[in-house]
Amino acid sequence: MALFDKFEKLAQDRAALVQSGLNPFGTRIDEIFSPTEGRIGDFKVVLAGTNNYLGLTFDPESIKAAQLSLKHEGTGTTGSRMANGSYGSHMALEAELADFFQRRSAMVFSTGYLANLGVIGTLAGPGDLVLLDADCHASIYDACKLGGPEIIRFRHNDAADLERRMLRLGERARDVIIIVEGIYSMLGDQAPLKEIVDVKRRLGGYLLVDEAHSVGVLGAHGRGLAEELGVEADVDIVLGTFSKSLGAIGGFAVSHHPEMDLLRYASRPYIFTASPSPSSIASVRASLKTMRARPELREHLWSNARQLYKGLADLGYRLGPQASPVIPVMLGSPQEGVAFWQTLIEHGVYVNLVLPPASPGGQALVRCSVSAAHTPEQIDRIIRAFDELRPIFPAAVAGNQG
Ligand code: PMP
Repeated sequence: MALFDKFEKLAQDRAALVQSGLNPFGTRIDEIFSPTEGRIGDFKVVLAGTNNYLGLTFDPESIKAAQLSLKHEGTGTTGSRMANGSYGSHMALEAELADFFQRRSAMVFSTGYLANLGVIGTLAGPGDLVLLDADCHASIYDACKLGGPEIIRFRHNDAADLERRMLRLGERARDVIIIVEGIYSMLGDQAPLKEIVDVKRRLGGYLLVDEAHSVGVLGAHGRGLAEELGVEADVDIVLGTFSKSLGAIGGFAVSHHPEMDLLRYASRPYIFTASPSPSSIASVRASLKTMRARPELREHLWSNARQLYKGLADLGYRLGPQASPVIPVMLGSPQEGVAFWQTLIEHGVYVNLVLPPASPGGQALVRCSVSAAHTPEQIDRIIRAFDELRPIFPAAVAGNQG
């Protein structure tokens, strides 16, 4: 059984965690009532771990669009766009994304993970050099493995470290690919994009920004961090997903480089996998329209995010560095993390459990994600549940209560 021996340590670690009757690895959401409410076993919960930033998963227009598409286009495309052809709706969505981002072109992928693999893994090959923020998402690391460039990690959110590393490269710096994220998925903090753009302007390189968690969340029109900071012209490629604020599944890349169209003939994660289901594309098109038409959703989201961040900070929890729709609550050992997360469900709140190595710093955390669809009362309920947990997990707030 040598093939499976490599999983032994993983199996032991997981077994140790579930010994006490807790099983965080097989969570079953038994019912979904709305973007913000569901049932897990006997517990009715407020959903605060969904990435459903604008709450559009139950938007009537998006549901209607998906239903119509199911009726007229069927349940799936049953193949890749290269082999089976693109549906008109794939192309229409690409045109709408290009228009929304004010870019020359857009390319749709089957997931955000595949968008990163398909763009980064194709553009960055052997002999190329990628400089990436150390906290970049797994899909960016996997994309580098696929393409095989040399990679240099710079310290998280440290433009000076990026600059130092680029200066060492001399002439080579001109052609590097720099990759950062708009909002980081675990800590909820934003890239110092102005400073990074400044380094790029002086030393060169191409800048790719994964705006998976910031599209619909940041910027006057919801185009993400680059819009928020007024540096869109300096970003070569924006990568994103349909699985968060747009409430469905799929991914995309937009760019002003005309050569991007050539990726359709070279990108294996685009060519060798089935294209997104037409109903998913239809709901994304409707959600994109709603996102553009209703900027107040973004305001609700931020008002909820600030309310939750302040409420949890006032309780003495250790949080991420800034108020954000992604709010990590830092805990201790994996065992404490699992117990905390489980108890929170019993108190009516569902969040994401993140264990090392997925969490930074070797400590467990629970990750809250806020939605525009949360009512202020639901945010209060979340805060109340965290309050109720303080006497049960005193270490989580030790030395932090003001
Ligand atoms: N990039 C980042 C920064 C992400 O957080 C994620 C998903 N959590 C992805 C890409 C992948 O997106 P998808 O779920 O659409 O595959």
